[in-house]
Amino acid sequence: MSDQPTPMMAQYLAIRDANPGALLFYRMGDFYEMFFEDAVQAAAALDIALTKRGTHQGEPIPMCGVPVHAAESYLLTLIRKGFRVAIAEQMEDPAEAKKRGSKSVVARDVVRLVTPGTLTEESLLEARRHNFLAAFAQVREEGALAWVDISTGAFQVMECPLPRLSPELARLAPRELLAADEAGLEDLAAEAGAALTDLHASAFDSTAGARRLCALYGVETLDGFGSFSRAELSAMGAIVDYLEMTQKGKLPLLRHPTRERAGGAMQIDAATRRNLELTQALSGGREGSLLAAIDRTVTAAGARLLERRISAPSRDLALIHARQDAVAQLVDDARLSADLREALARVPDMDRALSRLALERSGPRDLAAIRAGLTQGAAIAERLPEDAAQVLSDAARDLIGHDELIDLLDNALVAEPPLLARDGGFVAPGYDEDLDQTRKLRDEGRGVIASMQADYAAKAGVQSLKIKHNNVLGYFIETTATHAEKMMKPPLSETFIHRQTTANQIRFTTVELSELETRILNARDRALEIEREIFTQLRSAVLDRAAQIGQAARALAEIDLAGAFADIAAGEGWTRPRVDDSRAFVIEGGRHPVVERALKRKSESFVANDCVLTAGDTPAIWLLTGPNMAGKSTFLRQNALIAVLAQAGGFVPARQAHIGMVSQLFSRVGAADDLARGRSTFMVEMVETAAILNQADDHALVILDEIGRGTATWDGLSIAWAVMEHMHEVNRCRALFATHYHEMTALTAKLDGVENATVAVREWEGDVIFLHEVRKGAADRSYGVQVARLAGLPASVVERAREVLDALETGEREGAARPAALIDDLPLFRAAPPAPVSVKVRESPLDGRLKDVHPDSLSPRDALDLIYELKALT
Ligand code: ADP
Repeated sequence: MSDQPTPMMAQYLAIRDANPGALLFYRMGDFYEMFFEDAVQAAAALDIALTKRGTHQGEPIPMCGVPVHAAESYLLTLIRKGFRVAIAEQMEDPAEAKKRGSKSVVARDVVRLVTPGTLTEESLLEARRHNFLAAFAQVREEGALAWVDISTGAFQVMECPLPRLSPELARLAPRELLAADEAGLEDLAAEAGAALTDLHASAFDSTAGARRLCALYGVETLDGFGSFSRAELSAMGAIVDYLEMTQKGKLPLLRHPTRERAGGAMQIDAATRRNLELTQALSGGREGSLLAAIDRTVTAAGARLLERRISAPSRDLALIHARQDAVAQLVDDARLSADLREALARVPDMDRALSRLALERSGPRDLAAIRAGLTQGAAIAERLPEDAAQVLSDAARDLIGHDELIDLLDNALVAEPPLLARDGGFVAPGYDEDLDQTRKLRDEGRGVIASMQADYAAKAGVQSLKIKHNNVLGYFIETTATHAEKMMKPPLSETFIHRQTTANQIRFTTVELSELETRILNARDRALEIEREIFTQLRSAVLDRAAQIGQAARALAEIDLAGAFADIAAGEGWTRPRVDDSRAFVIEGGRHPVVERALKRKSESFVANDCVLTAGDTPAIWLLTGPNMAGKSTFLRQNALIAVLAQAGGFVPARQAHIGMVSQLFSRVGAADDLARGRSTFMVEMVETAAILNQADDHALVILDEIGRGTATWDGLSIAWAVMEHMHEVNRCRALFATHYHEMTALTAKLDGVENATVAVREWEGDVIFLHEVRKGAADRSYGVQVARLAGLPASVVERAREVLDALETGEREGAARPAALIDDLPLFRAAPPAPVSVKVRESPLDGRLKDVHPDSLSPRDALDLIYELKALT
């Protein structure tokens, strides 16, 4: 056995070693094959068979493969599971390799590195979400974050000192984060759900970065785009470098980088986003989030814009007002709104089509998408009235002036082109004469021959002359020897060239016929070639106007978003909030859009509530008490969501709202509620609370839900108490504070900006009824025992809890000793008497069934089913 790898294996190993950190998809005919450790990992991740092929250094080589035609779905699974994939294609026809010798291997090379942040395929992307690739750079004291969505070309950068990185990543939720080796960002990336890619420090060199950017945009200096710090150049340069590497030189269309102003958006940190479930529910999906509940956009680009706005509500008053004006106009003019939405629904994803065109991963449908988008865009611009709100009229301006390109595409493309350029059939008849001819030959070859035969018969004066075809001669003209005689003499012999004489027939050809023949034979190939050329021309015509098309796509998204906000406002009775520079926070009849929607599905209605966190311009803090399940968390969150929606430029679910600009939004939930994160430690809760106390300014809005409950009662109460005082005295922010520590309600007497509020319940025949109504004042008690009963705690336990509670409350009223002492005085717990122990007793069906029950393995749903089942047994 030799240790020498086969030539193919040697090639494989060389390619693999040149692309470390990625699974290698090695093209072999109709399959992408994987070998060695790659195969083992991929087979497990994809749940496909692991086989063997040959040996290497005496060991069998593990192998697995996926068919090329189905590769995309496998790729998606691998990327989702955190792999990166290098795709090595065959760079020549296998026949070429054979010519070089029997041992020669087909040339192969990696044409692309597929990573989470660099996807462009429709099937690999979520249409309604951005797919950001981000890079974080640090140069001396400065930090910067750059990000790009290569599927749309949007490229942005901002100053970002390290402490700001976490909230910014939380906002953008990039799929992949580039950082210099040893930057130590593992935890931050993991928290943001981004795959971390370490690059060599040289990728972050700021001077090289500036050079790469200049080369990319074909400019001498970047001054025209703005002035960038060293760190910003470094971050942007790293992105361009990485794209060059992963796309193997084919750079995607990148718009000119724009700087995002720090402080332009409401600051929302990662914990707050999670808690408020802005764009993702705690369970991980989109469903259940604010975004899912309010998304009425009809285009994918509109949906992505909505996600951006919700993730980063503005702090620019003029901008917010302008956006509200547009929504208001569409709310008032339902007809206009409906028209626009109908037209928008026919707008395809131009951004992504454009980017595929730039990356040469495109097909005729991408051209058709541009045509349809621009055509609808022009119609939409036409439909907008003279007095359209600024945002709409600005958009209209970007939607006109594309006529030339629309005409070109209209003339050139059939109505419904196929997906791939490869098979042709997308260029419209009448666009290219040469193509029309070629196709005519291809399709009507016989017809052309027939008319040629008639021409020749007339010319030669031989009615019986035929054009025939065989495999040896191809096309030929045939006639009998008698008739042929005159054709073999001038002037006819100048046209008819003798080819063959058989027993009875003479065969001729003509220059024209042999040309025709070649053309017929080549027609198919030729037609494809012409179509490919036309595709390339059309593609460049589109790319020449990429910037304007990008503008148009943005304009359509903007109109879509205004329409979507208007639609939900009109449909759900939302109102235009007054947003100004004050510190007001006055919500009348506010609702929680997500909870309300969930209740509506169950035909239940939501109880609207007021929230007034200011006396004039003086901020106030509401201390909210009330039993569990009363609706405290819902109330807290709904007010935060209303602020987000207001500054995102939308209307809000309230009867009336006045919101002084919120600079920062904080929301924290006591550790016990944060189980979803698997970090239900008190420490986390305190670290997060510390962040608020250290950062919140006087325009912040803070929502604290049961802070301090992750520890013993007295500790918790003391901490909650101190936190409240700090917010009141130092931060001077607007805040809502929900707690079950009734003792805190006494704070109102001491702190003049603190007010008590409670979620009302009614007690009725020992049960509690939740009214979900928020009122001024403190809750008188917590009703925990009643809630426990509702939850199905055994009657004996509920009974006992009542006794203990009574004793404790009486003791407290009488200033008696500590609970421990009281408990000594309580009579012993009386459980239901145990069943007499006797083996002879016949087991009741109920007991029998219960024996089989393993509570630990029951889901709540199973438990409920079980109760029904047990009930049926009694
Ligand atoms: P708490 O935080 O007080 O324990 P939640 O806010 O979690 O209570 O609310 C418990 C449930 O009560 C919610 O799931 C919802 O179904 C219902 N609920 C809350 N607020 C309202 C409301 N304003 N109107 C109607 N139902 C509500």
